[in-house]
Amino acid sequence: MPNEVRPIDCRIAMQRLWDFLDEELTEDRMAEVRRHLDTCEQCLPHHEFAQRFLKAMQASRAEPPHLVAVRRRALCVKRQKCRMTHLSSPPSSSDLDSPSYLEL
Ligand SMILES: [Zn+2]
Repeated sequence: MPNEVRPIDCRIAMQRLWDFLDEELTEDRMAEVRRHLDTCEQCLPHHEFAQRFLKAMQASRAEPPHLVAVRRRALCVKRQKCRMTHLSSPPSSSDLDSPSYLEL
């Protein structure tokens, strides 16, 4: 019976929960955990918590390095621009009013 999903107990469901969320289980095992979470009120809060936790992890992992990289690149461009203007012309008081100096 290919569509038969074996019932599993809470202990097994919780053991597989993280792999289930990462979709690292076989299709059969995914189905078993999904079926259990659908029917077990005890495990459902764990599942929801784990999902929220994963989302938060992904958000905190994805954002800061991205922002740091963008900021670093912006800083680099500004520094280069400054050096170039300084090479071509002596620094003037107007340079101090430019946004690049204010942000650095
Ligand atoms: Zn359960």
